[in-house]
Amino acid sequence: MAAAVAATTSSDINSMSTSSTKRSAVPSLSFFKDWTYVPAPESSDHIHLKDQYGLFINGEFVRPHSKRYFDTINPATEKKIAEIADADEKDVDAAVTAAANASAKIWKRMPGKERSKYIYRIARMIQERAREFAVIETMDGGKPIRESRDVDVPLAANHFFYYAGWADKLDYAFPNRRPQPLGVAGQIIPWNFPLLMAAWKIAPALACGNTVVLKPAETTSLTALKLAEIIQESGLPAGVVNIVTGFGKTGAAIVNHPGVNKVAFTGSTDVGKIIQKAIAGTGKKATLELGGKAANIVFDDAPIDQAVEGIVNGIFFNQGHVCCAGSRLLVQEGVAEIVIRKLKDRMETLIVGDPMDKNTDIGAINSKEQLKKINEYISIGVNEGAELYQSSCTLPSKGFFCKPTLFLNTSQSHRLVQEEIFGPVLAVQTFRTVEEAIEKANNIPYGLSAGIWTDKGSKIFNMTSKMRAGVVWANTYNKFDPTSPFGGYKESGYGREGGLHGLLPYVQW
Ligand code: ADP
Repeated sequence: MAAAVAATTSSDINSMSTSSTKRSAVPSLSFFKDWTYVPAPESSDHIHLKDQYGLFINGEFVRPHSKRYFDTINPATEKKIAEIADADEKDVDAAVTAAANASAKIWKRMPGKERSKYIYRIARMIQERAREFAVIETMDGGKPIRESRDVDVPLAANHFFYYAGWADKLDYAFPNRRPQPLGVAGQIIPWNFPLLMAAWKIAPALACGNTVVLKPAETTSLTALKLAEIIQESGLPAGVVNIVTGFGKTGAAIVNHPGVNKVAFTGSTDVGKIIQKAIAGTGKKATLELGGKAANIVFDDAPIDQAVEGIVNGIFFNQGHVCCAGSRLLVQEGVAEIVIRKLKDRMETLIVGDPMDKNTDIGAINSKEQLKKINEYISIGVNEGAELYQSSCTLPSKGFFCKPTLFLNTSQSHRLVQEEIFGPVLAVQTFRTVEEAIEKANNIPYGLSAGIWTDKGSKIFNMTSKMRAGVVWANTYNKFDPTSPFGGYKESGYGREGGLHGLLPYVQW
């Protein structure tokens, strides 16, 4: 029985429950919730991890000046995986000096076609070790292995491939403008897509002839350090990429270092504001990719089953740990009841648990602190008077987990609607007209992304021209490609990453 269910795709299940108008004749999705899947854990035998990781500076792994290390743990088991070096200002200074030397002596003088070969080699090496990267990403960050394997790692390799292609064609990217590198890029990334964010940052910087000092988030340093191993093996000249680990203080040391010419940051809006103040008047260039509170907008002419799957993909898969997560649902009144019923049914079938199991839909929340924050928001939602619905699944007894959560009857002024939660929590509102949908979608401090579900192309184009969101997906959600730019409006930051636009922040004329 279990094998039969495992072989059934989610779209099959949807059509079984919804294709007939006589609903009583077909099982509801909740019919499947008692069917158990046979466990399908990914093995971790093949991965190579050290007990302790130093800093990657000037092509070598070195001990931190402070001699301090901190633990990185598996959020699904709460077990320690390895010790990570805590870099201080002296370490950051060594990394920036190495990057500045490599820039002046080697990298910015190297012809684009030679730089391209190194970037291409890194891409190939990520592909060759894709399985190892996926497993480590899941162990360190808590996201389902399916996501790491099918999304994070292939996209990271694709980013390096894509920007390898640009390295010798910059004159075509910017005709008649003679693009020059900026020098040293200080790059700070968050914990939701550790390897992918490193790729988003490093690949365009190298393609444009810059050198890099990158800091991963303190809870997810491992794949960046594995990337450092690949970079070392690839023969990339020493100092071109440096990876320093640590907390906010390490990040601040990078931002404030006078040898850093450009800051690229992805993370919270609060830290983004601190960075913006810190670099004001210094002449440092910056790109900031900050928070989001995206609306998935479902019209009454939408393909309802696909929309429900898109909503689930937008907020529940990946634990809602995505800045562009569709954390708000705006649904047109005429279809609100059916959309919510189908959504609740689908939520009942979501598997929450061991991220290493290939059947898992929702893995572990990245850290204890993040789980606490999500639970605080759930209490806030209840206190604000919204109606709470959670799936009836049982959570594992160890690790940091959260049930997929829905809030109905929310209003525009609710904190649930206005603030970024970064967890599997969806706030639902209804609307009557296109104008009301646009007004509600835009009336928040953020503007990173949005989704529109309708069968009218004209409605899509009308909406997209009026939405203050950097990315608008139509009849799909959370789709990424290295060729397409990504970035926000308002408090979601500025600058674009990805595509041709992603080269611009790394060049000067
Ligand atoms: P999140 O809420 O997603 O954890 P943060 O903005 O706190 O996002 O963290 C994103 C990255 O910014 C992490 O690598 C973190 O260590 C770093 N960071 C935190 N505080 C600062 C700061 N004051 N200056 C620079 N980097 C910081």
